Amino acid sequence: MNNLELKNRDLDVLWHPCTQMKDHETLPLIPIKKAHGVYLEDFDGNIYIDAISSWWVNLFGHTNKYINERIKEQLDTLEHVILAGFTHEAVVRLSERLVKLTPKGLEKCFYSDNGSSAVEVALKMSYHAHKNDGKNKTIFVSLTNSYHGETIGALSVGDVELYKDTYAPLLLKTLQTPVPKDMSQESAYEAAHEFELLCQKRAEEISAIILEPLVQGAGSMHMYHPDFLLHVRKICDKYNIHFIADEVMVGFGRTGELFACSHANITPDFLVLSKGLTGGYLPLSVVLTTNEIYAKFYCDYSEHKAFLHSHSYTGNALACAAANATLDIFEHDDVINKNKNIAKYMGEKLQRFLELKNVDSIRQTGMICAIDLKGYDSQLRIGLKVYQYGLKNGVLLRPLGHVIYFMPPYIITFEEIDKIMDTAYEAIKRI
Ligand SMILES: *Cc1c(COP(=O)(O)O)cnc(C)c1O
Repeated sequence: MNNLELKNRDLDVLWHPCTQMKDHETLPLIPIKKAHGVYLEDFDGNIYIDAISSWWVNLFGHTNKYINERIKEQLDTLEHVILAGFTHEAVVRLSERLVKLTPKGLEKCFYSDNGSSAVEVALKMSYHAHKNDGKNKTIFVSLTNSYHGETIGALSVGDVELYKDTYAPLLLKTLQTPVPKDMSQESAYEAAHEFELLCQKRAEEISAIILEPLVQGAGSMHMYHPDFLLHVRKICDKYNIHFIADEVMVGFGRTGELFACSHANITPDFLVLSKGLTGGYLPLSVVLTTNEIYAKFYCDYSEHKAFLHSHSYTGNALACAAANATLDIFEHDDVINKNKNIAKYMGEKLQRFLELKNVDSIRQTGMICAIDLKGYDSQLRIGLKVYQYGLKNGVLLRPLGHVIYFMPPYIITFEEIDKIMDTAYEAIKRI
């Protein structure tokens, strides 16, 4: 088997995510044969450093020995069981640990199998909790430039035109309030003030605000100050609006703390986690909420207040085993502290990009670095050129429009950081 053979078989039968398939007439698909650590290897023997953690999911490298062992152990014990009426050890253990690790006050875990469906869970729970209180709150607020997934509800609260516009006639009515325009405290304050003005007018109708704490991922890695979370928490309390923190991307250490909400020391009413939850191994997501919300659903069956939402693979045992293994690594390897050195090193190397005349600005939050290019028309697909240059030189970068970013697995070495950042530097210099 070589690249060409598998590529042709693929294009006969597959439709790939987030892709104009015609692009593959000129842009070769890359079949991956195997992967280890930060390295992906194709069928022709080329290797690539996974600088974007395979769409932001991988934390401790591919085919991680420890995680592999834990999954294999689980595989021979229990692969999956219905989670309605039944339970298992991996999911109980994982839930106990998540309750301990997440911001104080989050006490109940509801599982699903991807980020978008967990967002749907949080939206439905929020609406339903108000309904069980006798209130009819049907509007969700989100931030401009936000991204929360691709299912209809999740897309409705998102604000990235590229994904949303086509489906606009199908979507829920939602309201957007401005995201802080930069990383300053003033911008955080100004944006919070806009949100409060909206609440003054519409609080009766607003069920929740959903936001990506500190970094808007698919919104081109836009970053803002943690004070915004603090202001939003206060406003939500004042107007009886739920706070949904979508930490699908920023959770599990990406921002420098285990959870981004900890930077502001706040507890949301709903915390949505996925991506890094299983170390990038298996699809799993969870919504954590408070006992206060949980209690609103807890009554005799005949009162019809239960949350009757389910997915076939809710709380899958293999995925839970991967998640427990991932948390073990955080615990044993002092990951959050060690990442501080990696983040510092990436931050120093990032400065160099400012020398390039087509670089507009740089920014960083923890383990995420981003570079804005300037002077290009969006029709030029400048990101694609960087992507192609990267692949030719052994680095998987996947720019978002004219924003190049780095979000590597936490096991990356300084030499490997040199390699990915030097490659990006050369790519930008050449375009
Ligand atoms: C990726 C992402 C989602 C959607 O998760 P999927 O597993 O891709 O459905 C939701 N919110 C944020 C912030 C994300 O980055």
